[in-house]
Amino acid sequence: MEPMHIALDLDDVVLDFVAGICEVVNRDFGANVQPNDVTDWNFGQFIDQYIGRDWWLWLEDHAWLWGEKFKPVPGAIGGIEKLRRAGHYIEIVTAKPTWAEDALWTWLARYKPRVHRLTIVPLVEGGGTTPKSKSSDADILVDDRWENCEEWVVDGRPALLYTRPHNAQRGVPPTGVVRVHSWKHILNVFENNWIEWPDLSPSLAKE
Ligand SMILES: [Mg+2]
Repeated sequence: MEPMHIALDLDDVVLDFVAGICEVVNRDFGANVQPNDVTDWNFGQFIDQYIGRDWWLWLEDHAWLWGEKFKPVPGAIGGIEKLRRAGHYIEIVTAKPTWAEDALWTWLARYKPRVHRLTIVPLVEGGGTTPKSKSSDADILVDDRWENCEEWVVDGRPALLYTRPHNAQRGVPPTGVVRVHSWKHILNVFENNWIEWPDLSPSLAKE
């Protein structure tokens, strides 16, 4: 297929975030939480009880975990290399608070995903982030957050939803979003052009 400009979300697409969090919480707080238990985007409901405080505030105190503990998603580093070799232009597009930026660079320096570009999407005060479609001009987005994929296809571009326990129960994604289950699956999509283009008919756009 024609080379594309591909936007990759970082956490839980390239970097094994939930698995890393579970491992540290289990080790440090004697819990036994597995990634499959984290079945909702609001992770706190599964781990706050063990940490004894809001997990996001705890993570702010432990931002070094990105650089020193979290590992790549299986297949991601080699997968990125193969996509680049196939001529695609690769951009990581990640929403990060400023307190996580230094650790993010440490992680990138350690694992060296062969991307062309990094875009940090700032968090908006009071919650939420700038839409990824406003932060990147990529042709296609790969993300594990349902809302990010949804927002991207409303903007007229296709997306791949990386299946994770927190989005698995949400069923069939909107037109323009294809579910992928692994990096092998992502590579298959690009090799075989299994991309689905959004339907921008007015009736759908209003939903
Ligand atoms: Mg993510």
